[in-house]
Amino acid sequence: MWRPEPSKLKSVSPTEMNRLAKCALATAFERDPAFSALKRTNTFALLGTICHRILSGPRPGTRTKFEAVWSEHVAWAYSRLVASCSPFNPPVARQWPFYNQTKIRLRANLLNSASHQSKSGATQESWNETAIGVEQDLCGTPDKIIRFANGTIKVIEYKTGSVLIGGSLKPEIRRQMLLYAYLCNHKFDEWPTELAVYSFHDGWLRVEYTPSHAIDAAADAVRLRDKFNAAVENATTLDLAQPSPHNCLYCHFRTVCIPFQGALSADWAEYCTTIVGRIQRVDQGAYKSVRLFVEKSNMEQNASEATILRIPLQFEFHVGQLVCFDRLKPVSMDGILEMTWNSSCSITSPS
Ligand code: SF4
Repeated sequence: MWRPEPSKLKSVSPTEMNRLAKCALATAFERDPAFSALKRTNTFALLGTICHRILSGPRPGTRTKFEAVWSEHVAWAYSRLVASCSPFNPPVARQWPFYNQTKIRLRANLLNSASHQSKSGATQESWNETAIGVEQDLCGTPDKIIRFANGTIKVIEYKTGSVLIGGSLKPEIRRQMLLYAYLCNHKFDEWPTELAVYSFHDGWLRVEYTPSHAIDAAADAVRLRDKFNAAVENATTLDLAQPSPHNCLYCHFRTVCIPFQGALSADWAEYCTTIVGRIQRVDQGAYKSVRLFVEKSNMEQNASEATILRIPLQFEFHVGQLVCFDRLKPVSMDGILEMTWNSSCSITSPS
């Protein structure tokens, strides 16, 4: 059975804290070199990275300059996606979900804030994506910290997607901002007067908080780290799993995660299909295809067998092997599916 044997965590960032709170087993997989290669980038993450890179660089003051900067960063992002998805060919950037919305909202934000900043003049100092930390325990990199002429401090975080759930700020975004407040207080010896999130989807949101909220969030982060490190020491990392449709939706390690595969069922209605099955036949033409006896899946129809098409020739299979195919695209209702550019496949237990 696959069980990650990661290194222990020293300091915890807001991203790591949220990952630990969601499912610490994913952190364990990520920190074990035997599994870390399964981690791939995706179009959502890349759109976010493009925005952060542009926002942290010199402001393109005109539409023409923005177009040039945007194209340059999109070309960089696409090359990363191609490398990450090999041997599959990912869609071109214009076909990525939310590509146009993200571009239009970023452009509006940059061109508007450029004119606003030139009128304001109230900023004394500002830091873009500057790492700050608290000894060995906590670290973080807020998108922007501004110290105004009157000494007050504002922390800004940019998000490309929605930051709301049921009309309220998502808990993970709130945790992130509280941790930034704690880190800023450590750096400047002063609590930020404003924590602000700019979402390209929801606009500006102010995060209300008190110092005790931030202190509690920091204590939670350290507690989560210590729990993770104890599991590493006791070789019980699989006990950290918290499989659920929400937690596992974007996880990179589904094809090797036994708790995920054990929990998988037709109730996990997702945009893609996962199948754990034993290989009964392998065929080869321009691509490979395999016929499986299905042991677990989230297929709506309770099929006992399935055929997977369009498997790149590099994949090696043997009859009788137990394998997991993830993020498959259904071709027909009778258990025929195909691999696409973001599909993956692993042997489900080491030989
Ligand atoms: S697949 Fe689910 S249970 Fe497994 S590591 Fe990922 S999030 Fe955790």
